[in-house]
Amino acid sequence: MHRKKLVAANWKMNLSPGQGQDLVKRIKSKLPENLNCEVIIAPPFVYIASLTALLEGSPIQSGAQHCHTESSGAFTGEISADMLSQLGVRYCLVGHSERRQLFQESNDFIRGKVDVILKNHMVPIFCCGEPLEIREKNGQNDFVRKQLEDSLFHLKADVIQQVVIAYEPIWAIGTGVTASPDQAQEMHAYIRSVLEANYGDQVSTEVRILYGGSIKADNAAVLFSQPDVDGGLVGGAALDPDGFLAIIQAGNS
Ligand code: PEP
Repeated sequence: MHRKKLVAANWKMNLSPGQGQDLVKRIKSKLPENLNCEVIIAPPFVYIASLTALLEGSPIQSGAQHCHTESSGAFTGEISADMLSQLGVRYCLVGHSERRQLFQESNDFIRGKVDVILKNHMVPIFCCGEPLEIREKNGQNDFVRKQLEDSLFHLKADVIQQVVIAYEPIWAIGTGVTASPDQAQEMHAYIRSVLEANYGDQVSTEVRILYGGSIKADNAAVLFSQPDVDGGLVGGAALDPDGFLAIIQAGNS
């Protein structure tokens, strides 16, 4: 089974409107001609409509960084999955460690978000990963397995197959410290083994598992060459057009 690689940019709360437009235009204009991986850009909400329109006709798809579990109502400041879907957004991050830590998103709330994203025909990019103190105690496998069990494993086999998982060890996010290719491969293979135990061989070989955490132009290729790493979720390095294009190139080979 061939899993198509996927490279996703998470801009977080960065860039002015003009900088965002420029960045998308530069990436669009320099994409490899023989692009054979998927490319996603998740800008801040306020840019999502104009950037989704700008991306129309290009192979790059837009993604959202968050959504609420409800479809409408008195939730000041929130955005629903229906709204995103109607704007042409096709992917939505869920379970990012910054949302878990800074906005107290629980595994239950994350599960509700997964459901509403799927209900609106978008693909959840489900982020999981352990903090440093858990890795130091070698508890990362149990930690990640519980995140998967609590927020994903209620899904039926034909549904979970559509989900993209992103393994993002918290100690590697925005720190400049990257998991070694062996550490990434080890966890990705473990996640695949948990998928297999719960859903069987077909699901475990089809689900794409991205790595995230200080991916840069100079480490992307070796990370993406690991057998169970199907691309990357990129924060800081996605704000620089040349750096992000080099990462796309690494996902393209
Ligand atoms: C992220 O926030 O998803 C991320 C991977 O960030 P960075 O690449 O900056 O570590």
